[in-house]
Amino acid sequence: MKIFRVSQEDYSPPAELHRLSVPNARNFSRISASFVNAKKPERAAFCAGILVLWEFQKPFDCQGFSYILSALADMAKLTVNDLDVRDKRVLMRVDYNVPMEEKDGQMVINDATRIKETLPTLKLLVKNGAKIILMAHLGRPDGKKEPTMSLRPVAAKLADMLGVKVAFQDDTVGERIEKYVNSMKAGDVVLLENVRFYPEEESNDPAFSEKLARLADIFVNDAFGAAHRAHGSTTGVARAVAQRGGKCAAGLLMERELRFLGDELENPARPFVVILGGAKVSDKIKVIDRLLEKADSILIGGAMAYTFKLAQGLQIGKSLVEPDRVEMAKAAFEKAKKKGVTFLIPTDNVIANPAPTGKLNKKGKPVLDLQNPRVNTQPNIPAEAEGVDIGPATAARYRDEIAKAKTILWNGPMGIFEDPRFAEGTNAVAKAVVEATQKGAKSIIGGGDSVKALNKAKLGDQVTFMSTGGGASLEFLEGSELPGVAALSDK
Ligand code: AMP
Repeated sequence: MKIFRVSQEDYSPPAELHRLSVPNARNFSRISASFVNAKKPERAAFCAGILVLWEFQKPFDCQGFSYILSALADMAKLTVNDLDVRDKRVLMRVDYNVPMEEKDGQMVINDATRIKETLPTLKLLVKNGAKIILMAHLGRPDGKKEPTMSLRPVAAKLADMLGVKVAFQDDTVGERIEKYVNSMKAGDVVLLENVRFYPEEESNDPAFSEKLARLADIFVNDAFGAAHRAHGSTTGVARAVAQRGGKCAAGLLMERELRFLGDELENPARPFVVILGGAKVSDKIKVIDRLLEKADSILIGGAMAYTFKLAQGLQIGKSLVEPDRVEMAKAAFEKAKKKGVTFLIPTDNVIANPAPTGKLNKKGKPVLDLQNPRVNTQPNIPAEAEGVDIGPATAARYRDEIAKAKTILWNGPMGIFEDPRFAEGTNAVAKAVVEATQKGAKSIIGGGDSVKALNKAKLGDQVTFMSTGGGASLEFLEGSELPGVAALSDK
């Protein structure tokens, strides 16, 4: 989206905006919600109106303003609902990067959630008579044909789940594939082989994108989980399809992801409580910084809490920590104070003593046995121990805070939840989020391991929304523009 500065003589803002008094960006946020689904000229008028008011009614929260504009830009994309797809070749990028393992010489799908999430868009396209050509990546074959990373088993699973025949082609581009696609009939579905078998996919080679575009009248991107990558099948193909005069639209899953991680958090019902955990502060510091502008409370767990503890001058024993991020942690504490955000770190922890096992993991790192798990109620962690979970007092404090929430965003586990001995803190948070949801709060789970933890606790269907993206969700929550979204056609 281009933003022009205009003067009042050049442009009259809509009447609603004239009537507005403009104390801060939150007022704009509320009004923007009714405009996000408007057609392009109305949105342009709205933005222009804001700019006029911005010019004349200072002081103004510039950062809040930029968030509103970016939300408007993100939501302004064409969606699959806006298109006539009958008899058209619809090339659709999906995220079928499903976990698989080998059983009796066959690759078996362990978790079909990602396939399930694409069914609404596929059902719509089948119903409306499109010819559906699916493309996806699986694993990291590094540009080579790797039989264990073939998408063939996914085609069979998809056919089961969709209740429609799904053909499979053992290549992605080229004359043979073009011929096949050109012979398809309305309602046919085909899945192409792993796009990453071609090195040109990740290098975003324009000639490869052009080959993909030859298979399409329309491009649909429903792969939110891959939208943070500028690859041939995400951005390159969109450019090439648009150059040929075709439309590029978001699928229904992509639209939902942008709505929940974008618009819903742009205008959160308050109190807005954010729970952040996981391994590293460095992965999430931009999200923390951005959410400090919006949240009423931020609750920190996981290993990243130890960097915050270190920033407070506390001892953290052998806990996972990033000493080079202590200054960032201090800045976050400062900002929270300035903005009046309740910013909590654990007051007690489950700790254990790491002992070498002599074994190495897949990445060649020593595997440690975590012995003698116990609750540490002291602020300092003993020298021989490492923090592995939040403690019961912290879990209770976090539960109270979550119970007050009207909007919840959760990203990252509270401890090493993969080990049942250290999953209690994460499970307590999961339960508190579900209880708050039952009382009417909107709960948004920002992808990755918190989704795994909720599913493990069989609570996945009891929250408002679970993102399918890992890296993409984080980048979007940071406020970054996702290249795969930016490449789609405007409404
Ligand atoms: P992330 O991908 O950043 O959300 O991190 C998830 C990972 O953080 C999980 O594999 C957890 O086991 C790990 N994790 C959470 N808490 C701790 C902790 N206290 N010490 C070590 N690893 C942790």
